[in-house]
Amino acid sequence: MPDRALSIVAIVGRPNVGKSTLFNRYAGHRRALVEDTPGLTRDRIAEEVEVGSRRLLLVDTAGLEPGAREELAGAVQRQAQEALTGADAVLFVVDGREGPLPLDREIADTLRRSAKPVALAVNKVDVPAHADRVAAFYELGLGTPQPVSAEHGGGAWDLLERLAETLPVPGETGGEEADDASLLRVALVGRPNVGKSSLLNQLVGSERVVVSEVPGTTRDAVDMRLDTEDGSLVLVDTAGLRRAARRQRVGERGGALMTVRALERARVALVVIDGAAGVTDQDAHIAALALERGCACALLINKWDLVKGQGSAEQLGQEIERRLRFLPDPPILRVSAKTGQRVDRIPAVARSLAGKGERRLSTSELNRWLREAVERHEPAMAQRGSRRRPLKFFYATQTGVSPPTFLLFCTDPLAIRPAYRRFLENRLRERFDFAGTPIRLRLRARREANG
Ligand code: GDP
Ligand code: GDP
Repeated sequence: MPDRALSIVAIVGRPNVGKSTLFNRYAGHRRALVEDTPGLTRDRIAEEVEVGSRRLLLVDTAGLEPGAREELAGAVQRQAQEALTGADAVLFVVDGREGPLPLDREIADTLRRSAKPVALAVNKVDVPAHADRVAAFYELGLGTPQPVSAEHGGGAWDLLERLAETLPVPGETGGEEADDASLLRVALVGRPNVGKSSLLNQLVGSERVVVSEVPGTTRDAVDMRLDTEDGSLVLVDTAGLRRAARRQRVGERGGALMTVRALERARVALVVIDGAAGVTDQDAHIAALALERGCACALLINKWDLVKGQGSAEQLGQEIERRLRFLPDPPILRVSAKTGQRVDRIPAVARSLAGKGERRLSTSELNRWLREAVERHEPAMAQRGSRRRPLKFFYATQTGVSPPTFLLFCTDPLAIRPAYRRFLENRLRERFDFAGTPIRLRLRARREANG
């Protein structure tokens, strides 16, 4: 289950103030799960960082914009609004070189209306001589403006530390009830216009499905419970999707924050792709995020009614293979929200995927697997100073489910290369059929004499 001690922090501000530079600075300090996946290092949506004892999930709210056609002021306002509804805290970035501009004031007005913690970062304060740029931002009424230099790093971590201190301690807020762990929570995610809300409407419109609304456990979330012949599941955070479907307020379409928040609460992610448009960078980012957040992933290739002919279907298959190959063998369902084709199979796919991630393997079958894997491909020798010593594995045990988490004891965890770790993960996945499921491997040191 997702760890509740995680706080979501949205980074907002006008374009060009340095939001992405700051985000990347923080992101650079963490080794991402999909670190060496080509094309996924840039334009990431969310990044987890540790600040003291707190875990923060930083979200670049500009990361999932539908397009640049929207008027700037409107887009920025919407970003601020979304941050307030979706995040636990806001990191508001302004440009120290320019002083407070009208758009900064508008964002500040929106942010002041909420009780959520806001940190005001005055960026581009690169050298001590720039410090006099900071005071002008007191007028925004958001407390003490804090100087940073996203480019050079100055002040960046102090800023996060102070923000972390103002956050309510998770679990003590009283407002958030623990999600009922027996229910399967599923997130329907994808970039704008792939057909998420249409799929939701098809799903809840089916005569074979009984639908009930579950009051949101967190903030303003609305979940939907579907009881089907294949069992029950809960689609998390559907409020934004349904608003979009009714086209009530176009501005309320969910963006990066809604996606992150839904994934954080879900065990299974249904990543929706527009089959007619093919696989884009954004699709890949969303899929990677789902995996990183510990969700088992299935792909829903929507608009299948528009994919005509053997040629296009094959081309699409190759694209999925190439651009989403970091997904561990995900189930793929070709659907059409328009015609309803195969939509009724979605709940069964989600349940079967969740079932795989929930299994507990016995220590004896795990150890048999470990012995065989290591025999098949021995880890490289560990280099310690001038000595090279063989790396030895002792035993493995499963410490968690959804995602399946394993603890491996060995002589020198730091000497295990990422490629070898991946080898072990893949063997585990093959042997125990964890297709579509992320696997967490933890390595721990044990001295040889004890083994
Ligand atoms: P965003 O649109 O808010 O995400 O802004 P970017 O991160 O893309 O940065 C906009 C421009 O400001 C880029 O040219 C950055 O190199 C520059 N920039 C960002 N942070 C700093 C900083 O701390 N100091 C200086 N001098 N320039 C910065
Ligand atoms: P969302 O932004 O992901 O929620 O996407 P929507 O559900 O709003 O759909 C975006 C557009 O794609 C709308 O015009 C839908 O009518 C259309 N659409 C969605 N699903 C399908 C489908 O299966 N086939 C076709 N042809 N169009 C679809």
